[in-house]
Amino acid sequence: MICAAPRQSDGDLNFGVAIVFFHISSILARMVVRMRLNRSQTAQRRSHMALTAAGVQLCECGSPRRAHRACPSCGKYRGKVGIDMTAQAQRLARRQKRHEKELKASGQITADKEVKKS
Ligand SMILES: [Zn+2]
Repeated sequence: MICAAPRQSDGDLNFGVAIVFFHISSILARMVVRMRLNRSQTAQRRSHMALTAAGVQLCECGSPRRAHRACPSCGKYRGKVGIDMTAQAQRLARRQKRHEKELKASGQITADKEVKKS
């Protein structure tokens, strides 16, 4: 097989590759310098990232609760009942019972697993 293109010597090829490499690296270096933020810009961006502590207060029942929210343990807000906790507990128990019933019906829970749970 005959190669028609005139072949360069290895020295010329290496020199060309080196020139291209330095050209590209100088472009990349300039890009990085241009996109870099200074300390002031970084601090300005981070000035909005501070976290604030959640306002926690003690309810009249003694348990901690978030400010301007009903108490999660007694359901009261400013002395009045906001959430009916007994009804909520009954609803939760009813849902769990129904969920377990559905799992038993579909065969995902067997009697052995139930014994291990309790
Ligand atoms: Zn409370």
